[in-house]
Amino acid sequence: MQKYQMLIGGEWVDAADGSTFETTDPYTGQVWATLPRAKQVDADRAVDAAAKALKGEWSRMTASSRGLLLCRLADLIARDAEQLARIEVRDNGKLIAEMRAQVGYLPQYFRYFGGLADKIEGAVLPIDKPDTFNYTRHEPLGVCVAITAWNSPLLLAVNKLAPGLAAGNTFVVKPSEFTSASTLEFARLAKEAGIPDGVINVVTGFGNEVGAPLVEHPRVAKIGFTGSESGGQRIYETAARGFKHATLELGGKSANIVFADANLDNAVKGAISGIFAATGQTCVAGSRLLVQDSIYDEFVGRLVEFAKKARMGDPKEATTQVGPVTTPPQFKKILEYIDIAKAEGARCLLGGKVATRPECGAGQFVEPTIFSEVRNDMRIAQEEVFGPVLSCIRFKDDDEAISIANDSLYGLAAGLWTRDLRRAIELPKRLDVGIVWVNMYRAVSYMSPFGGYKRSGLGRENGMDAIREYLQTKSVWISTAEEVPDPFVIR
Ligand code: NAD
Repeated sequence: MQKYQMLIGGEWVDAADGSTFETTDPYTGQVWATLPRAKQVDADRAVDAAAKALKGEWSRMTASSRGLLLCRLADLIARDAEQLARIEVRDNGKLIAEMRAQVGYLPQYFRYFGGLADKIEGAVLPIDKPDTFNYTRHEPLGVCVAITAWNSPLLLAVNKLAPGLAAGNTFVVKPSEFTSASTLEFARLAKEAGIPDGVINVVTGFGNEVGAPLVEHPRVAKIGFTGSESGGQRIYETAARGFKHATLELGGKSANIVFADANLDNAVKGAISGIFAATGQTCVAGSRLLVQDSIYDEFVGRLVEFAKKARMGDPKEATTQVGPVTTPPQFKKILEYIDIAKAEGARCLLGGKVATRPECGAGQFVEPTIFSEVRNDMRIAQEEVFGPVLSCIRFKDDDEAISIANDSLYGLAAGLWTRDLRRAIELPKRLDVGIVWVNMYRAVSYMSPFGGYKRSGLGRENGMDAIREYLQTKSVWISTAEEVPDPFVIR
């Protein structure tokens, strides 16, 4: 059994009261590690350490040196990528094939934002006042808190840390209580890279016990949150009371839209990757498949045949395609939604039950599930399931497809499958979402903004937008006049 400690102010520590909690391998069902169960006092210690680091060596470092440290961290992640990927698989049940790709890609975030660190440039403004020099500075916000969901713990933490550190902030990271191990392993590398003590602190534990005190802490300037819509709402309300900045990456119910003119072989693969990759436990899941009437029966039939062959099993095997559900509450929730869909009158064409194949071991698996004849007003089409459950909906033409796609409280992503150039260019403008993929699905890059419209969130991660989310602008005025003019008149 592995015993983890948290990183606060450069020291590996237990929770102040010594309490711990366990983490489980979703495939074997066995507890494999214990972690400190942090509380308010630990949150306070971590914020103090981050506040102290903000005034120390970190703030005196040139932006170029800061960037170089992030590039060094990138090299260490690349060195240990296989080990980090295996920890994610063990703690999360993610597929090793996907984790090798995802963790192998993380260094690029630190290289990109490390490179940006010394390109945060203010401007000299041609100000409309005589004898006045005015310029802007973009400064860090201060102590930032990163709170992450369980589905891609390292990626979600890196999405916040890379731009936030490049901008000169310090951090307290609180990973999900279900999947904290990889963030602690990552923190070990940050220490090895020479990032000064207290710049990255990691506390582990539960949302109400240590997450809430972090969000409430008066010395915290910003919350970068990835998680559920309800969690985001709670955090945003608390942040508002303290006038804190917040970036919220929340849920989705994304429409993947297939037109009759699409390359259907590719569209089938796109629909599958939209919902069964990562066992559907992804915010951008294309969980509503909108298919044009004239090809609906043929397309859904092909989809069922393809999904039937998906290989379920041990996520450590490179050939596995669908892994276990990560957490027991999520497993229960997925099965409840399957019952809801059946009760609403959706037609279950595939799956719709717990998977009990021998290759599923002791894991909690749900059979890849496809519902047909779903109406967009059904709960299965409106609420996020976060599992391998697809709702297929018919549409007639462009207008109806857009109207169904936009008829959602969420607005994270959408997919379009078409060979028509006009559609490929015009329809993305009409979709109320933050990300549109045309003839592809589920691509992300450190270079391209990621985030949602409507209840899918606020702010953007990745790309130039992300670094701005961790900066505030100061306007500096210098008079070059010999004499101060009339003090009772605004200049
Ligand atoms: P969650 O909201 O239950 O928990 C997220 C994090 O918030 C956890 O670390 C949790 O401990 C913490 N937390 C809970 N209550 C808190 C409180 N009162 N104060 C502070 N912290 C608190 O979400 P989850 O179940 O871990 O994640 C699944 C959700 O995340 C899904 O809705 C999914 O769509 C979303 N998600 C979104 C994105 C995105 O980029 N848009 C990416 C991944 C996941």
